[in-house]
Amino acid sequence: MRRIYLDHAATTPLDPRVFEAMRPYLLEHFGNPSSVHARGRKARFAVEESRETVASLLGAEPGEIVFTSGGTEANNSALLGTDGGVLTSAAEHESVLRPVEALRDRGWPIRMIMPGRTGAVSAGTIERYLDGDIALVSIMHANNEVGTITPIEEIVAVSRRRGARVHCDAVQTAGYGMMRADEVGVDLMTVSGHKFYGPKGAGVLFVRGSTSLESLLRGGSQERGRRGGTENVPAIVGFARALELAVLEAGDRRRHAEALRDRLMAGLLEAVGEHVRIVTPAGRAAVAPHIVSVVVPPVEGRAVDGEMLLLNLEMEGIEASAGSACTSGAVEPSHVLTALGMDVETASAAVRFSVGKDTSEDEIDEAVDACERVLRRMIRAAR
Ligand code: PLP
Repeated sequence: MRRIYLDHAATTPLDPRVFEAMRPYLLEHFGNPSSVHARGRKARFAVEESRETVASLLGAEPGEIVFTSGGTEANNSALLGTDGGVLTSAAEHESVLRPVEALRDRGWPIRMIMPGRTGAVSAGTIERYLDGDIALVSIMHANNEVGTITPIEEIVAVSRRRGARVHCDAVQTAGYGMMRADEVGVDLMTVSGHKFYGPKGAGVLFVRGSTSLESLLRGGSQERGRRGGTENVPAIVGFARALELAVLEAGDRRRHAEALRDRLMAGLLEAVGEHVRIVTPAGRAAVAPHIVSVVVPPVEGRAVDGEMLLLNLEMEGIEASAGSACTSGAVEPSHVLTALGMDVETASAAVRFSVGKDTSEDEIDEAVDACERVLRRMIRAAR
């Protein structure tokens, strides 16, 4: 059976061009960048060259780029490295919400705001809850479950006026070249390589020059003392190459994803529109190019089993996600959907489809047919 991968917001396959860039650093050039001999210097050169590439692609200075083990570490570093209160939204990724809980336990003031019904956070709401206790505002760019984009520039403007700095989790959009630190003006920004055909376990925290941040991982003086631990040289090289390709091909990748996303939305509405609700807002301005979130409201008062829905899709060859990858498998409804005001029964039957650069129109059409078969079967059984 043909398998159709529609889970690119969870992760993407490694681009063979990225693998080729990494290969010499996995095999031959295995030196520790802190070693002073030739092999060490070769590795150091690769790390610093990658840093320069990443900095120029993200609109930063090389010294503002901290290589991390991925988005989760970058988010943890941004949050836990801050002294002071934090304002964030209930629809953030767990790698923001869990550190925020830890900060609350340490006694810092926390303001947890609710996003609007589409999932975006408005600058007006931020302004209302910002006071002198808040040192950091942490808001994601595109929501990883529903795809809605929050206008970060507006949030930077209101936060600046109140003297708070801004961290943005740009994990879902950086690979579409949609976030540059110099244009948006954020102080801290998280990027993760495996969302744009780079290796897993490779990420970046952008830290604006003047921003003081306590190191999360204490150890050696790597990354200018901001992140201890021997650098993962192949992953860093792969991250830089993947970002380079992503930015180079951003226009094509974005247009391709948007067309497929719209085709999937239209196909689902036509085939099973009476049974599903598309949560991702229609229209291109304020949504990520690649994400379509769908829920199945209760049938005749009875909730549809979200796990069964995903399992049935899987049996039809469709690989999608229940919500964010980190929470799929859990029985609880998505915290994002409930934060949008959705009832628990509807939020429990949610599927997130996410397309990628190699997804085809045929695959979308097949996925729509499969959804129709699965939903009709499940709804018949529920009645
Ligand atoms: N932030 C968002 C919005 C994500 O979607 C993810 C991954 O799903 C992460 C952070 C975590 O990134 P990583 O998997 O690199 O730890």
